Amino acid sequence: MEQCRFCLDQEDPKKLISPCNCTGSQKYIHQACLNKWQETMMKNVFTYPETFSLSQVSKCGVCKSKYITKPYSKYWKWIKFFTPFISIIQQYSYSIILFLVTLALFSGLILITFLTNLLCILIICVAICYWKGIRPRIFATIDGIRLGFIRVGNPVAEIMPGMIISATSAITQGIFMNSKILITNYSPETGAVGFILNKRIGIEENLFYGIGGPVSPNSQHIIHNMGELPQSARVVDGIYIGGVLNQIHPEAKCMHFLGYSGWAPYQLDGEIRAGVWEIVGIATPDDVFI
Ligand SMILES: [Zn+2]
Ligand SMILES: [Zn+2]
Repeated sequence: MEQCRFCLDQEDPKKLISPCNCTGSQKYIHQACLNKWQETMMKNVFTYPETFSLSQVSKCGVCKSKYITKPYSKYWKWIKFFTPFISIIQQYSYSIILFLVTLALFSGLILITFLTNLLCILIICVAICYWKGIRPRIFATIDGIRLGFIRVGNPVAEIMPGMIISATSAITQGIFMNSKILITNYSPETGAVGFILNKRIGIEENLFYGIGGPVSPNSQHIIHNMGELPQSARVVDGIYIGGVLNQIHPEAKCMHFLGYSGWAPYQLDGEIRAGVWEIVGIATPDDVFI
């Protein structure tokens, strides 16, 4: 007599299958009934995970042979894939949680320590820079706005208009290398203005042309020895700045500068104290008009 071992139904014997090695009354089952049974077993993975094993679904519990039909559930491949992990996780759950918590705590600590150290180093760097008189400053150049750093220092009493300073070996490149500069304006609050004396680019009649410095390279400035010239100002005895070029007497001495050198308040003071510049002394006309 052929009947389904699950639903015990004898009707429709054509739909009965024999999926395992069982014989006798255990031999036949409906495909749908086998699926139902396997699905019930699969649910054990969630309800009784500690006793669940894949063979409960894929093998016959009586004859222990593998069912010839595969479990049809769409979740089967996932259950098959994760079951080994589930048992490992169950076995080591406390260790795993402990490990993850420890890892989280430690990585947090390490990150906080790292960030704190970074912040400390940054604060120390900024403090050292301020102590050394280094200040950030925004420069407007022909190429655009850029951020740079200047060195400031307490006022140096010897700096005054008419003073000549010369670059020390601390300047190893650029327009200021080996330069001698006549300071024409100075006050600690407004900074300093000067002109490089030894970067001459030509001479025309008795008019010398030179690069005064890197600031406003297209601006023109004259330094001469005609004290009476309108709109000119005395730098020091025998040296004057400004005035109208065509009023300069042919016999007069005159320097024509393109651009000038400028320092922010306390910047030249800081650079002199840092040994970037050396004070040469008060200029005489012979120093300037050579
Ligand atoms: Zn059945
Ligand atoms: Zn069997």
